[in-house]
Amino acid sequence: MVDFAGKAEPGTTKKYKTGTWRTYKPILDKEACIGCEKCWEYCPDSCKIETEYDGDIIFDTDLDYCKGCGICAEECPVEAIEMELDEK
Ligand code: SF4
Ligand code: SF4
Repeated sequence: MVDFAGKAEPGTTKKYKTGTWRTYKPILDKEACIGCEKCWEYCPDSCKIETEYDGDIIFDTDLDYCKGCGICAEECPVEAIEMELDEK
């Protein structure tokens, strides 16, 4: 529950999806991802998801919670993530 000051209770992150205000979203090149986990480690919203792709483990994004900050794209060592305008 959100109080009058706009604060949320602890441990309730999963209840609050990003909504429509995000400007950019990360697009993953699944072929380029080497599954190094660096994006998972750096994402401030814990929205990187371990996924199987073509027999390999890669890390894609749960866009319900991604804020579009671009940190994952900055940190990816193989430039597998591109930030794209999030047109609604
Ligand atoms: S853009 Fe930011 S919030 Fe979204 S997945 Fe990347 S690091 Fe996480
Ligand atoms: S940082 Fe890049 S290569 Fe590493 S898991 Fe994330 S997307 Fe894949």
